[in-house]
Amino acid sequence: MANIITITNQKGGVGKTTTCVNLAASLAATHKRVLMIDLDPQGNATMGSGIDKHQLACSVYELLTDQAGVADAIMTDTRCGYHLIGANGDLTAAEVELLQLPRREFRLKMALQPILDEYDYILIDNPPSLNLLTVNALSASAGVIIPMQCEYYALEGISALVGTINKINQRLNPALRIEGILRTMFDPRMSLTKDVSSHLIEYFGDRVYRTVIPRNVRLAEAPSHGLPALQYDKNSRGAQAYLALAGELIRRTERQQAAAAATEQET
Ligand code: ADP
Ligand code: MG
Repeated sequence: MANIITITNQKGGVGKTTTCVNLAASLAATHKRVLMIDLDPQGNATMGSGIDKHQLACSVYELLTDQAGVADAIMTDTRCGYHLIGANGDLTAAEVELLQLPRREFRLKMALQPILDEYDYILIDNPPSLNLLTVNALSASAGVIIPMQCEYYALEGISALVGTINKINQRLNPALRIEGILRTMFDPRMSLTKDVSSHLIEYFGDRVYRTVIPRNVRLAEAPSHGLPALQYDKNSRGAQAYLALAGELIRRTERQQAAAAATEQET
């Protein structure tokens, strides 16, 4: 069954979309079956996957508002190795429309039920805010990946996010956990980076990924070609870092699945 992972941080520009696109491509390159869902009305993950957000026949908006089923929303013909449910500005309306619908926090979760066995990983990109869309993503997910830059105010932002995740955990989704904290645009030469980094590890322990994503121009250029860095420049440091992250995520998933199977046998 698919491991569903939300990539979120209410701060903009921290590398959520870059992580979603490049992690999806890296997981697909290691022969995992991957679906990426763009849940940001800006549609950056859609465009970054080479799909024109203005030409979507069916987007995540139709899916959330029951105007289409999941099979209609999935695009299988991307050049990136993964399948995609796209987003565009229409999704802005969904935030309001969802308020009127029954089980409004669980629309995405319900919509994905029919395809859970068709994928190993489902990655969800999020807007830089904490609204009903993000709540839908968190309700549907088993894990959260939090990309962050090692800046002075980052820790403050992250404690607010952890508070939210705990609330969702108690009220809507008891299975939700922090899958990992990802340090993005990492520059080890800066002493502030080292300080923030060591605070993070102190607080989150091994939930901080060992893999760090360096600042790399190829990662910034690739979206304008509608490609993940892996397809744009495979040997770039950025592409290689996301491949390493995929390896780390796969090992963690396998450990979790083995532990879950062992507990099941005991009971
Ligand atoms: P978010 O989705 O959190 O708003 P993005 O992934 O869109 O953040 O990243 C913000 C900007 O920074 C984009 O222009 C992106 O290309 C660039 N960027 C992200 N990660 C890196 C990186 N590791 N190195 C260089 N540029 C990056
Ligand atoms: Mg984004």
